[in-house]
Amino acid sequence: MRIALVNNNRQESVKLAERFLRKIADSDLVLDNEHPNLIVTIGGDGTLLSAFHKYSHLLDHVRFVGIHTGHLGFYTDWRDYELDDLVESLKHDKGESVSYPLLDLEVKYRDEDESISYRALNEAVLKKVDGTMVCDIYVKEELFETFRGDGICVATPTGSTGISKSLGGAVIHPRTEAIQLTELASVNNRVYRTLSSPMVIAKDEWIVVKPINEKGLILSIDNLTFAEREVEQLTYQIAKERVHFARYRHTHFWSRVENSFIGVLNKENQIVDERARWERGE
Ligand code: NAP
Ligand code: MN
Repeated sequence: MRIALVNNNRQESVKLAERFLRKIADSDLVLDNEHPNLIVTIGGDGTLLSAFHKYSHLLDHVRFVGIHTGHLGFYTDWRDYELDDLVESLKHDKGESVSYPLLDLEVKYRDEDESISYRALNEAVLKKVDGTMVCDIYVKEELFETFRGDGICVATPTGSTGISKSLGGAVIHPRTEAIQLTELASVNNRVYRTLSSPMVIAKDEWIVVKPINEKGLILSIDNLTFAEREVEQLTYQIAKERVHFARYRHTHFWSRVENSFIGVLNKENQIVDERARWERGE
């Protein structure tokens, strides 16, 4: 197996990356950052997002696996203290994988004839920092609403636990093939009206956004932000490609959600410390 390693700059991550490399040194696992078939990330969910974009041209050929040096993440389901178990799983890899839907975003910029196509693992956010963003929102060919507010977010199912959730979006099981639109501070009064609730569209539908005033818009895709450019039209739908993760063991999605947002409680109603449990050999 050819492995690419991506880590963030935090000291724990750098040290763990060195340990990882020492552990694979005498095995069939070779480091190949150019043409990998497995990408190991060490850091947080944000590190995995960076790796996803770094290797987005290889999506059909690679699997990702993420180690979190902090708490348990959504894309990073291995913890730093489980490194030995992970390396063993890699050595005995049989191609186990799970895949999740991605967002396909086609952007037509004013100064370019062709649309540019992007893939998001979490979401795309279009917003205006100065003044109100006004845009027409279509579902397929039909005008749905004229939106006024700070911006809009369109998220994937796995992105539904990211910023989309902070915007009031629902948490969506990643087996659901859908994308979700949420609003950033919409203007609603007797004159202006938006749906004012999250909207989930079906697999065969798409959303088109046409900004009325194109100046000063900022487009973010996952952890990347694009310099201000005049956006004429954006089209959002579920991508044909999916992202693949190596899955050597299964963490129930709702357990992950509980672990991240609620905290797993023991009988005494105390939050369970997973690391302490592991250190005690439980
Ligand atoms: P960041 O500022 O470090 O990210 C904010 C937090 O979101 C971090 O705790 C990150 O986890 C977590 N996160 C990322 N993807 C997630 C997911 N799918 N489900 C649950 N939590 C997730 O920036 P970043 O690390 O570069 O990540 C960019 C992402 O952060 C964006 O795509 C957006 O979804 C999210 N974000 C959230 C908010 C918010 O909730 N208000 C604001 C900005 C950005 P790690 O610590 O493990 O990296
Ligand atoms: Mn982060």
